[in-house]
Amino acid sequence: MTALLSRLLPASPPPSADPGALLAVDHLDLAYGQSRAVRNVSLRVAPGQVVCVVGRNGAGKTTLLKGIIGSLGPRAGRILFEGRDLTGSPPYQRARAGIGYVPQGRGIFPHLSVYENLLIGLEPVRGRLDGQLEQVFTLFPVLKEMARRTAGVLSGGQQQQLAIGRALMGRPRLLLLDEPTEGIQPSIVQQIEEVIAGLKGSLAVLLVEQFLDFALAIGDYCYVLESGQVTFEGTPGSLDTAALRSALAV
Ligand code: ATP
Repeated sequence: MTALLSRLLPASPPPSADPGALLAVDHLDLAYGQSRAVRNVSLRVAPGQVVCVVGRNGAGKTTLLKGIIGSLGPRAGRILFEGRDLTGSPPYQRARAGIGYVPQGRGIFPHLSVYENLLIGLEPVRGRLDGQLEQVFTLFPVLKEMARRTAGVLSGGQQQQLAIGRALMGRPRLLLLDEPTEGIQPSIVQQIEEVIAGLKGSLAVLLVEQFLDFALAIGDYCYVLESGQVTFEGTPGSLDTAALRSALAV
């Protein structure tokens, strides 16, 4: 009987329902006290893909990213990265596993120089510099020009470039971006879009955004979050944009 059961039941759950996924989020529930902010969310990011999560203010986008980086523990569900269950892992282990994060508001250190801010991004690779600085300066030449300036003097768009550059210093295989277009002028939005498009293929991006057009322009696949739940998902071409616009209208 025991032998039969052991053949019927795997000793532990399979690592992922989708072995091709770089990131698999399964039935994730996240809450602040009694208030559930993310409800039963499942999503996938394949290697090299740009995936967008769109939702209006308070939809749960930042909370979802907090769950993925591990700064907020889940009530239910699990998070797999490269097939490895990271649900109980602390944030530093997830960063070392290859999950980079650019927080909303950028989280740069205004009193440190641009260069020092970039060096902080080396923690996930234990301080090892192996060409990342040159790559970041090639992607964002303005950071090279301003390397010795204090980061607080940079414009909003330059700070966004610095925040992305800092995350890239840790050589992530998945980059999480929280509202990269927030508070920056259209010409820089275009530049950020080009940079993300240029990263596509070499690393995967999971981007949360309120700005639907940006998400549709850049995403290979989009999820729409309303009150913590996924209500639409699909490739940009397959989504009913009129329905999305009305769902996202304030
Ligand atoms: P925004 O576009 O404004 O950043 P969002 O989609 O990222 O919105 P979240 O910040 O994830 O939304 O918030 C989801 C819900 O959780 C909201 O109702 C918000 O008020 C609540 N919330 C967020 N942070 C906290 C917190 N630290 N404590 C309690 N409730 C919170």
